[in-house]
Amino acid sequence: MSNFESNILSKKEKERFDRQFRLPGWNQDLLKRSKVLIIGIGGLGVEVAKNLAMVGVGHLILVDLDTTEYSNLNRQILFIDAPEGTSKAKWAAKKLKEINPFIQVDAFHSSLQDLPPYIFQEVDLYIAGLDSIEARVELNRRAIHNRKPMIDAGTAAYNGHVYVIWPFKNACLECDPLTEREQDQLGACTLVGIPRRPAHCILKGQLQFEQDHGRPVNVKNTTEISEIQNYANKLLQEYFPQSIPFTTNQIIQIIDNHEPTVITINAVMASLQSQEAVKILHHLHSSSEGKLGTLQLNYLIYNGLTGKFYELEKSPNPKCEMCGSNRTPLYKIKVKSSYTIAQTLKQIASEKNLPIDQEFPPTLFKIDSSNVMEIDPSLTFTNAKIRDYETVFISGFEDGSSIYLQFKIEV
Ligand SMILES: [Zn+2]
Repeated sequence: MSNFESNILSKKEKERFDRQFRLPGWNQDLLKRSKVLIIGIGGLGVEVAKNLAMVGVGHLILVDLDTTEYSNLNRQILFIDAPEGTSKAKWAAKKLKEINPFIQVDAFHSSLQDLPPYIFQEVDLYIAGLDSIEARVELNRRAIHNRKPMIDAGTAAYNGHVYVIWPFKNACLECDPLTEREQDQLGACTLVGIPRRPAHCILKGQLQFEQDHGRPVNVKNTTEISEIQNYANKLLQEYFPQSIPFTTNQIIQIIDNHEPTVITINAVMASLQSQEAVKILHHLHSSSEGKLGTLQLNYLIYNGLTGKFYELEKSPNPKCEMCGSNRTPLYKIKVKSSYTIAQTLKQIASEKNLPIDQEFPPTLFKIDSSNVMEIDPSLTFTNAKIRDYETVFISGFEDGSSIYLQFKIEV
């Protein structure tokens, strides 16, 4: 059926989307029925959410634990009239409803970990506007476990990347051991060790400041910055005597962990994410003749200074611990909220032939939460506060194996 004959779109919506109805292969009804999760409503997330609202994706779920700051306004258009300190997700939802009143927008002022787990199950795809590797890796795990495509992107000064992870089709974030190496270049730096690189002198200065004052440095206070600068330059002279002393700017750049970022690069990367999202929704929900375009499953890099794009093909690592042969199996099981966890564990162990040592039974860990903690198996699902579609990690079967279990909880 053509978009013009749709019976789920109102007259007003048909008028609004008239121009895009004319695009070959476009299916507005399909977009109206789609549900997209956007994690991180910052430089990328704001642009993606705005684009998908304007395109007419019927249901958007926005997640961010951050609140607005005046320094967001060089790039995050939705917060232009937000009072400082407002929940980003909630304010963005309100503005998106003004942009397109025909869609549903839900907001969660929450971390990715504390979002109700059923949401990861019920949406069509995930879009990441995240700034940390840890959060990306966490979303990657949920994408694999729930078999949902995830569209990641990131920017670094004038460069950006976009990468679609299609579970079991292309490489996931954990297929590539590089991710781990990049994870924490300076992590090994401590107050006691010898600085291995000049930048470590600054971090040591920062640690010393925190120890002396019992609080983090205020990067806007010039006296505090020069205290660190003096300390860092003394160390620099001692360990790297050939180096030129650090300037105030260098000190701020290193200790203030805000990346330099600008709307032009954010907008390019977010538009690429949005266009892939539109295509993926068509691929997920239409018959083979109705698929729109081909998916970009390569890692795409954009250099904003040369205007060039680069593509890297990322083959899945057959031994990947998340999506390859070394992965921990995930089993899904329906349970009643009044069951005890021990009872369910016994059942799944017998079904899957997993040996339980009675004296040292396996331990269960909550992982869909920001507090990773052990669960007492004598509790019922209600008392252990296990939520619908929650995944727990169970280790210590007699043969040394471990599993993930995802619970569909019935009342
Ligand atoms: Zn993988």
